[in-house]
Amino acid sequence: MKTVSLIVPMYNEEEMIPLFFETLNKVINEIEGYQFEYVLVNDGSKDNTLSILKEYQKKQDNINLVSFSRNFGHEAAVAAGFAYAKGDVMIVMDADLQDPPEVMKDMLKKYEEGYLVVNGKRVDRQKDSFMKRNTAAAFYKVIKKLSGKIKVPENVGNYRLMDRRVVDEINKLPEKNRVFRVEVPFAGFKTTEVEFVRQERPKGKTHYNYKSMFHLAGDSICSSSIEPLRYPFVIGIGLMGINAFLFIVNFIFHMCHISGVIGQFNYSLFYILISIFFSLGVILFVLGIMGMYIGRIMIESQDRPVYIVDEYIEKR
Ligand code: UDP
Ligand code: MG
Repeated sequence: MKTVSLIVPMYNEEEMIPLFFETLNKVINEIEGYQFEYVLVNDGSKDNTLSILKEYQKKQDNINLVSFSRNFGHEAAVAAGFAYAKGDVMIVMDADLQDPPEVMKDMLKKYEEGYLVVNGKRVDRQKDSFMKRNTAAAFYKVIKKLSGKIKVPENVGNYRLMDRRVVDEINKLPEKNRVFRVEVPFAGFKTTEVEFVRQERPKGKTHYNYKSMFHLAGDSICSSSIEPLRYPFVIGIGLMGINAFLFIVNFIFHMCHISGVIGQFNYSLFYILISIFFSLGVILFVLGIMGMYIGRIMIESQDRPVYIVDEYIEKR
């Protein structure tokens, strides 16, 4: 019988854990033909998540528990889940039941049809705020344009099924800047998706604010494309063109002026200020793009571990 490893990152989820196990254990029991193991990654929670998980581990014999020395972030927790999971099939899901567990049944059906990656695609984002929906839509548009041969699927978060082979390839990737949702399409393999409606978080609250979302968006773009690094070149050429045009116009005005066709004309301070701010904006924009990549080069060259494990307790 094949083993499914359920990889679940958990950060300050003490309120969610009882409901999580209640729901998941029920769904797992309904699924025939597979045995399940939990790979729960405590991402340096400050509440009682770890001690509650240890209690559950005493009651249930299918829980592997990885606990970090501090909070390393969601992506690091997923990476650790991949490293510690021993199953033939891996499913990543959030602890807050926003990814409905019943969808695993559809995922496993697709797996049996021969797909090695089954993405969970969110079809209805009505429950997300207006702002989140629109920033997400803009993000997917940008990344689609930039990522070239790596096809980052739209509206696919972390909820997905992968065969062991796919995860083995991801585990081999040397980079420290981990973005799971880009690594999976990078690895490739026969992929499909199942649709689901993302639920509201029953308890606790989201750990993502707009700042961390933009950070994730930056990581996703930088890890899947170097296209933005070409922008300065294009912008530079464009600005040189504008410059040449202005030079010619200026020359014509000057000639008209000395030949007496027109009188003295006023360079208004307003236009000068606009052009100063415009050039400054372009320079900082370009520097910003460079900075995004240089920052990540630094992280890679430091070569620090993606996470540090404080405790690993294997299932009985
Ligand atoms: N999470 C984590 N480390 C963090 C933040 C979040 O392991 O630093 C986990 C969290 O416990 C949950 C999942 O990542 O299982 C998704 O987090 P959340 O529900 O806050 O994100 P959202 O669903 O709002 O995008
Ligand atoms: Mg959530």
